[in-house]
Amino acid sequence: MIVLRADTLGYCMGVRRAMDLAVRTAETEAGRPIYTLGPLIHNPQALEDLRRRGVEVLPEGEADARIAGRTVILRAHGVSPELRTRLETLGARLSDATCPRVLASQRRARRFHEAGYSVVLVGDRNHGEIVAVTGCAPGCSVVGSPAEAEALDLAEPVGVLAQTTVTEEEYDAVCRVLRARYSRLAIVDTICPATRERQESLARLAARAEAIVIVGGRSSANTARLFRAARALGRPAWHIETARELPPEVFGFGVVGLTAGASTPDSIIAEVEEALLDPGRAGRKAEG
Ligand code: SF4
Repeated sequence: MIVLRADTLGYCMGVRRAMDLAVRTAETEAGRPIYTLGPLIHNPQALEDLRRRGVEVLPEGEADARIAGRTVILRAHGVSPELRTRLETLGARLSDATCPRVLASQRRARRFHEAGYSVVLVGDRNHGEIVAVTGCAPGCSVVGSPAEAEALDLAEPVGVLAQTTVTEEEYDAVCRVLRARYSRLAIVDTICPATRERQESLARLAARAEAIVIVGGRSSANTARLFRAARALGRPAWHIETARELPPEVFGFGVVGLTAGASTPDSIIAEVEEALLDPGRAGRKAEG
């Protein structure tokens, strides 16, 4: 079998940065409890690896007196200024893994707010990134669809930002509605290219491969999107978390494409590649 890797796959810049920070912190503070505020990454194997290194997940609602004097790592999608202050007041030592792209969105939202704009955020109001950006522009509106944009009644000028992971199509659809309704409108492109790059890379891969394996956590939205895209490109495709989940039928193909979501560790991608190329060896390793 020939295995073709997508030219862009696996960790995005923000997730790699956050994981590197967590591993470094675990090394320098070995033996002391370290927390991440919520799961650092949508990948159970990576979370288990961090747990073995002494990094525990602290559910946001459980940030209480026990974090006094402890290191708390903030995730790539950041926290609101209010939550940051609360954690500091509780005595946590913050280690900030907020992605620079998310920090840029937070700064933009704050500047719009301070300049008197009505701020509109396009995305999922329950997503941590949007919750954090909302805290930088109190009173802002969050919309998830063109219909919700139609229902807004805003004072101009209006400043618009997107969640970093919405698609360009989703953002354009909302912006079209806003353009038709408001003339003093500033739209900022805050969409992160990581998702689009992985999708474009998948399309190139699908042109050369007979079937596609997509590796990533089951709760990873961008991995699920890659899986749907592979199917839409007309290729047999499988979404797996680890090499053990490779289906027998994949070994019937001569050229298999391999890609992975933005929260999939390099080591798991390498294991899947190895299992595809040498299923016997990978099986022996798993048993051993
Ligand atoms: S997807 Fe983009 S914005 Fe989100 S963490 Fe990765 S690099 Fe940062």
